[in-house]
Amino acid sequence: MTVVNSVLGPLDTSKLGFTLCHEHVAVSSAGIPQVYPEFIGPQGTTERAVAALRDAYQEGVRSIVDLSTMDLGRDVRLLQEVSRRSGVQIIAATGTWRDIPRAFWGASPDAVAALYVREVQEGVEGTGVRAGIIKVANDVGGVTPEGEIILRAAARAQRRTGVPISTHTYAPQRVGEQQVRIFEEEGVDLDRVCIGHSNDTTDMAYLLGLLKKGVWTGLDRYPGGRTPDTPNWEQRTDTVRRLIEAGYTHRVLLSHDWSVTLAIVSQEQQEARHRYNPDGYLFITRRVLPRLRELGVPPETLHQIMVDNPRRFFEGG
Ligand SMILES: [Zn+2]
Repeated sequence: MTVVNSVLGPLDTSKLGFTLCHEHVAVSSAGIPQVYPEFIGPQGTTERAVAALRDAYQEGVRSIVDLSTMDLGRDVRLLQEVSRRSGVQIIAATGTWRDIPRAFWGASPDAVAALYVREVQEGVEGTGVRAGIIKVANDVGGVTPEGEIILRAAARAQRRTGVPISTHTYAPQRVGEQQVRIFEEEGVDLDRVCIGHSNDTTDMAYLLGLLKKGVWTGLDRYPGGRTPDTPNWEQRTDTVRRLIEAGYTHRVLLSHDWSVTLAIVSQEQQEARHRYNPDGYLFITRRVLPRLRELGVPPETLHQIMVDNPRRFFEGG
């Protein structure tokens, strides 16, 4: 038996069930939920999140991993309430996204790692909610000097706590390869690492190169395709099929990167996002899994991807 930290307490990994490994409930910026909650948008974020996740539960979703960090406006009290009322189990994250606090730019990786370790072992903001995963992010242009501090801090916190790392990358520039290099230097077991947003590319050579290193691939952006330079959902789903055929079913994690509120873009953009994907957390259930079945993927393989893989990702091995 292995235990994962959920926002409502320790959870036996066998209870995770159908799990979406990279989602958000509410995204903003550091401190906004606590200091300027009215900025986040129309009142009722909590109610909308509870409704969306109740719908998801009705259609079989049992757990989500919320990869919102402090600099993405993480609010673990909100996550607790939404989990309690919707029935969907939520794993919260420590780590840092792209808005690396200026205070960390001159810090040592060990000093930052100690903060992540504390959030895994003792809890977040005095709530007792313990993080179950470590998030890091590197985007266009690759790993910056301050990004490298975060990557090394995440690696050291991973080694001290055993919880997995999940990354944000810019796949078109093969940023996952840079992350893997640093994790290797830090001696991280790559079985404990998911290279995220890997379905923002269809470059199989890149994806297979990462998989040969032993990491997990997060095919965790759906539906995608809102701009012509990113793959649409059919292309993303074909990539899943190709990875299954290449023998990597056991290293694939599917998710949406959805968020009920996304206060880092304008209200108009948020509304456009909801019009573009009215299925929210259920796009994979309603569109992607049926498409994979049409493409000949057997139901037991889909069960492996949506249920067994997330459990094994948290268990290690
Ligand atoms: Zn995300």
